[in-house]
Amino acid sequence: MQIEFYRRKYGRGCRPHLSICIEGQHYHIDSSPANYGINLITHAHTDHYGQRNMNNSKAVASKETAAILEAYTGKRFSGAVFEVGSRMKVGKVRIKTYPTYHMHGSTAFYFKENDVLVTGDVKDYSKLPKCSVLVTEATYGHPSHVFEEEIDKLVKIASEKPVFGAYPIGKAQRVAEILQEEGFGFSAEEQIERICKAVGLKPSDGPLIASPRNLPRYGGGYVLTAQRFYKWPRITISDHLDYKGILEMIEHCEPEEVVFYHGKPSKKLLEELKIERIACRTLNDIEAV
Ligand SMILES: [Zn+2]
Ligand SMILES: [Zn+2]
Repeated sequence: MQIEFYRRKYGRGCRPHLSICIEGQHYHIDSSPANYGINLITHAHTDHYGQRNMNNSKAVASKETAAILEAYTGKRFSGAVFEVGSRMKVGKVRIKTYPTYHMHGSTAFYFKENDVLVTGDVKDYSKLPKCSVLVTEATYGHPSHVFEEEIDKLVKIASEKPVFGAYPIGKAQRVAEILQEEGFGFSAEEQIERICKAVGLKPSDGPLIASPRNLPRYGGGYVLTAQRFYKWPRITISDHLDYKGILEMIEHCEPEEVVFYHGKPSKKLLEELKIERIACRTLNDIEAV
């Protein structure tokens, strides 16, 4: 089957991310709506443009992604929804979906006949299938980004009932889940609470989960992140693969070609793939039409 990657020109630049044309059917990946084709949304993070597709009846997202987008925007998602792990058929094209454990509802799309896998952001690649073309992210695409998570530290500090600063979409729900499983329960700022409820997490009187930018309101707290730009004490909890993890995912999927469509692949990462004789493209290499 014929497959083509392209970007949609817009003003002096391009629409977000990229589009794929398979057998005449167009798929816009984590992008703004178009007046043709289908928008596939990998997860509910704002920089993957689900919130721009609330009124797009040609958008496709997982049930949990749609629920989170609805809780976040207060609008109804008018696209089609599916259960992560299920299959769908669009025209002649069969697509299977796989979990990426990046956040609640995050999904990879696998185009079976073409052997193309679009991952979105990834935390755990273990369920992803092998593929010829891997369209993926490199948020931590620089070798300086190698980290171990500090769940133990989070659990230890939780008994002091501190305030945890966590990005409201995704990270906050992961932390809520950990706190609940460890028997602390959690409480949350209003927006975070709404999103938690959308994925079935009920707040109680445990440690408060707040947006990192609101920490000054509470006299400070801990930021849960692998990023280093916050002034508050940090507990390393990340919803992405680190640099090593990206390389391991590529090894796991055994692609002939990798297309980095999100994040920042470093020169070093691209060189490592070259050594492995894996063809490699970034968004800069994709034709804009
Ligand atoms: Zn994300
Ligand atoms: Zn992302």
